[in-house]
Amino acid sequence: MIKGNTGDWEIIIGLEVHAQVTTESKLFSGASTQFGNEPNANVSFVDAGMPGMLPVINAKAIGQAVKTGLAIGAKINLKSVFDRKNYFYPDLPQGYQISQFLDPIVGRGEVLLDMPEGVKKVGVTRIHIEQDAGKSLHEYNPKFTYIDLNRAGVALMEIVSEPDMRSADEAASYLKKLRSIVRYIGACDGDMEKGNMRCDANVSVRKPGAPLGTRCEIKNVNSVRFLHKAIEFEAMRQVEILESGGKIDQETRLFDASQGETRAMRSKEDAHDYRYFPDPDLLPLELTQEFVDNIKKSLPELPDQKKQRYMETFGFNSYNAGVLVAEQESAQFFEDTLKALDDKKTIGLTRLAGEVSNWLANELFGRLSKLGVEITQSPVSPEKFAGLIRLMVDNTISGKIAKDVLDFMMETGKEAAVIVEEKGLRQVTDTGAIEKVIDGVMAANPDKVAEYRAGKEKLFGFFVGQAMKASGGKANPSAVNELLKKMLSA
Ligand code: ADP
Ligand code: MG
Repeated sequence: MIKGNTGDWEIIIGLEVHAQVTTESKLFSGASTQFGNEPNANVSFVDAGMPGMLPVINAKAIGQAVKTGLAIGAKINLKSVFDRKNYFYPDLPQGYQISQFLDPIVGRGEVLLDMPEGVKKVGVTRIHIEQDAGKSLHEYNPKFTYIDLNRAGVALMEIVSEPDMRSADEAASYLKKLRSIVRYIGACDGDMEKGNMRCDANVSVRKPGAPLGTRCEIKNVNSVRFLHKAIEFEAMRQVEILESGGKIDQETRLFDASQGETRAMRSKEDAHDYRYFPDPDLLPLELTQEFVDNIKKSLPELPDQKKQRYMETFGFNSYNAGVLVAEQESAQFFEDTLKALDDKKTIGLTRLAGEVSNWLANELFGRLSKLGVEITQSPVSPEKFAGLIRLMVDNTISGKIAKDVLDFMMETGKEAAVIVEEKGLRQVTDTGAIEKVIDGVMAANPDKVAEYRAGKEKLFGFFVGQAMKASGGKANPSAVNELLKKMLSA
């Protein structure tokens, strides 16, 4: 149960995920949220904290948070309150962040993880909406700090989990699953490289059954890989302190990716007193049940539902189905490929679906990531991919040849059938032709034939290999096996 080398110490993890809500304008102003614009191109008087400017709530952002809540089966609070979280920082011109404290918009929900050992439930405590801050820029001038307020006031959802995760693998899986869900419903782009989604990881360790230990919070982790590394490092650090008789100080830490370690940032004693209070410029947010119900009706098929359907329709196991549905675009590619295949009657839907998913997961995904392109930019379309699978299923080519054909398809974008004809890769099933190849192999290895006939049956594999090689990999392997047996024993 316990991963890594923390011995009999159990790792406890709770995540606070910040997801930028997909909207054209900011949470309380009409300024654009477009990424990559000139610094301070997307700033309204509200975002700049000009006196007297009043915030106006963005209904689209509220809808996105409700959608996210519904997608994790959470309770939607029809009444929620916006509070001011007060602190001073140059990138926060208002002097406070508008957030939600005691009455968030979304209450308890849960996220299911597809772990290799089975499905694991992780509780979500709450989701609240808040404003993002701006950014300090230090690279322009060694003497000055510049401020870019493009991000100031952009809508964020903070998704807070229960301390339910027990390993770095589970935490990574949770972050990936959340990302998958918000991308399915279009509530967040989930682009961690652009800082679109980032998380704080709370980590503690304990002996199983003991009460929760003191936690440290690792701030602003911006990739799944870093999250994994940060947790493993942090858990080991805590175990080493406890094993040597020390105690853990509750503190905020930073993950340094270049060193692969977490470092203290501030202790609990330095923790801010944010003096939360309801924002007097904003009324409590009241939603109608009808607003919520309409959003519920608009939800697409979610990853877990798709997974269930794949398991029932195609006979996939839970883990494989989970991998296939993680990205909506990959699942779509799978379904489009299957649709383009008309061989369902001959070999059965289950086997065909299995072939397609294997070839996707084991061959196409790898080639795409080597090229550095997304599945939506694949040079091999679902229809062409179906063409390749069809040639394998009807025994025109072997699986081994198919891998080469796929390489050519990636390079040229040509149809599989065209490549097979051009390069003469058709599988040889004609018995006469294969017999001729075997005759040649036997004639070239008379001593081996004699040994085999004298009882050295291990040599059979050698003959199969030689015959396949002599046919340029094109001979049908089962025909080769069958004929070899006959001809060697003759
Ligand atoms: P804060 O507001 O100070 O960050 P919260 O009570 O909101 O504190 O908890 C934040 C996160 O810490 C939650 O995701 C929660 O699951 C997690 N957490 C709480 N206690 C522990 C613990 N002992 N070990 C690991 N994670 C914890
Ligand atoms: Mg926190």
